[in-house]
Amino acid sequence: MDYFLTEEQAMIRDLAGQIAAEKVVPVREELDEKEEFPREIMKVLAQSDLFGLFIPEEYGGLGKGSFELVLAVEELSKACLGVSTTYAANALGTYPILLFGSDEQKKKYLPDIAAGKRLVAFGLTEANAGSDAGGIQTTARLEGSEYVLNGTKQWITNGGEAEVYTVIAITDKAKGARGASAFIVEKGTPGFSFGKKEKKMGIRASSTSELVFEDCRIPRENLIAREGMGFIVAMKTLDSSRVGVGAQGVGVAQGAIDEALKFARQRVQFGHPIVGFQAIQHMLADMATETEAARALVYAAARFIDSGAKDVTKASAMAKLFATDVAMKVTTNAVQVMGGSGYMREYPVEKMMRDAKILQIYEGTNQIQRNVIAQSLIKEAAKGK
Ligand SMILES: Cc1cc2nc3c(=O)[nH]c(=O)nc-3n(C[C@H](O)[C@H](O)[C@H](O)COP(=O)(O)OP(=O)(O)OC[C@H]3O[C@@H](n4cnc5c(N)ncnc54)[C@H](O)[C@@H]3O)c2cc1C
Repeated sequence: MDYFLTEEQAMIRDLAGQIAAEKVVPVREELDEKEEFPREIMKVLAQSDLFGLFIPEEYGGLGKGSFELVLAVEELSKACLGVSTTYAANALGTYPILLFGSDEQKKKYLPDIAAGKRLVAFGLTEANAGSDAGGIQTTARLEGSEYVLNGTKQWITNGGEAEVYTVIAITDKAKGARGASAFIVEKGTPGFSFGKKEKKMGIRASSTSELVFEDCRIPRENLIAREGMGFIVAMKTLDSSRVGVGAQGVGVAQGAIDEALKFARQRVQFGHPIVGFQAIQHMLADMATETEAARALVYAAARFIDSGAKDVTKASAMAKLFATDVAMKVTTNAVQVMGGSGYMREYPVEKMMRDAKILQIYEGTNQIQRNVIAQSLIKEAAKGK
């Protein structure tokens, strides 16, 4: 399908695709086995300016948008979701500064982020606050010219590896969700340490850690926007980044189709390549159709975000929901097409299926996406739209 990319967009896609094929594919199995952070690949992405895609030119980026970011994420995801999660979580962590930061904060952080010199992470989730993010207990208390942070964030992507953290904490308990605020915390700040590094089913190249704040003092200037805006910052951040999770789904699904088709053309049973069997053909046809539908929705949602539309919540949630459900189904079916070989570590679809599962869970589970979409529908109906 032709999505009428500009010359520049095609170049970005091809560049990310080349890095994926040349730098990621040869090491993805080892990174997965060793649960090793893809440091060298991040350096290559930085040298190729891919960290600056969505950052305005005035802050050292390329001044592109969600759509270009989606193209790069999709290509990396075809090769390895552990790598693309590391890259995409950097954008997730950056959005609070990009969307709500002051000019000083943008000048201080965005150029280094665009250059790939400082990696970013986003810290919202806690042990007792997953889907119910309003239940966070990490606090930030203003003392003179500093905020003092206490609490523990759980399962933070790029935790321990990132230099900069955007963190949501409670500044006024009495106000509930309206009492949360967003902050920038730098690695190395006294009182800020990293707890348990998780061992995971998939995306094992990506690091997932606890963030521990014990009387961690940060300058008052590190408050993003205003006190009480923490949840707005978090929700708008997720509105922007969820479409990227959708792009991860499209990428891993496409990667799995490519592997399954290659295998089916070579594998001979009953005297014929299995690709000649209608049962296999129909699985491949459904996998390709669903993946194309997911790609069309993800691209449309990304372009909608880039149009400057005010409310992108529903579009972004739909793209994440649909594309990641497709990814789980398609990677599972790729294993089925390949039979026992698909189940073996020797072939990449085994890892793709393990990796794909996270896409239905992080940045809000797919049940939560359905809740979000339904809430938007109800709101629109009430407004008589
Ligand atoms: C590998 C990994 C990386 C992550 N990275 C980050 C990160 O970088 N930053 C960050 O802040 N967080 C991160 N998270 C956290 C992630 O966003 C949460 O895991 C997710 O939002 C779900 O929360 P939970 O796991 O606590 O599940 P729970 O909220 O405990 O949900 C359990 C089940 O109940 C369902 N459920 C809960 N409430 C409802 C409801 N109201 N309606 C219907 N169903 C419901 C859920 O859909 C799910 O099936 C990461 C998680 C993982 C596993």
